[in-house]
Parts: sequence; C-alpha cells; structure tokens
Amino acid sequence: MNIEGQCHCGQVAYRAEIDPQKVAICHCNDCQALTGCAFRISVSTPREAISLSGTPPKVYRKIAESGRARLLYFCADCGSPLFSSGEDPDQGEWGIRWGSIRQRRELAPQRQKWCRSAVDWLDRIDALPAREQE
Ligand SMILES: [Zn+2]
Ligand SMILES: [Zn+2]
Repeated sequence: MNIEGQCHCGQVAYRAEIDPQKVAICHCNDCQALTGCAFRISVSTPREAISLSGTPPKVYRKIAESGRARLLYFCADCGSPLFSSGEDPDQGEWGIRWGSIRQRRELAPQRQKWCRSAVDWLDRIDALPAREQE
C-alpha cells in the first residue's frame, strides 16, 4: 500500500510503500515516555521503501531495553515523531509512526509487543464517559 505522511507543521514529509499487516502496537516504557501516551503504533518497512522530502528530521539516539541502539527521527520544529531505525548494520528496517500517516484510518494494528509494561486500564476505556468533541 502506498502512503504519504508528514509531521504536524509539514516541514518533514515522506512517501512510502508499506504492508498494512505490519502495523503494530508497542507498550514498552520508552514508547510511553517518548510519545507521552499509553502506547505507540508504528508500521515497519524497508528503508528503501521510504522517500523523504522537505527538511531532514532530527535524530535522537537511545539504547533500547534490548541493549541495542535505536535512532528516533522527529521534526526539529514541531516535535512530531516520524520514524525509528536501528544503527548500522540494523538500518535496513524503519518504523513509521502511525500518527504521521495521512491514510492512518485505514491502518488498524495487527499485533502488540512489550505487553508486560502495558497499562492495565486499556480494556476499560469503552466504559468511560465520552463526548464527540471537547
Ligand atoms: Zn514539524
Ligand atoms: Zn516501544
């Protein structure tokens, strides 16, 4: 599937080819800290399937719980998270952040990982008071 995306302010943009079966939720502690949210949704795809345009994203390097370095790409201006990758020689596969994808409504998660750090209230949000708008 061909997708396109951008950060919130639009300075960083991309086009990519992805497999919708590879959309996944990550409940790890780093994803919670880096998104400010309960979990992160990404789709992985080969680096060569992504073409960037606009301003190059800023890169933050972290050491994952696995002990390997991960590179996190985000817009230097608006801060939107866009991609993640390993370092050489693990650079081949990139993760694209679901929220940056224009066609995200068509992309439902297919699996979950790092469930041991998942919050325990996710299955209960259906029961919370809800409004259509703020
Ligand atoms: Zn931006
Ligand atoms: Zn994670």
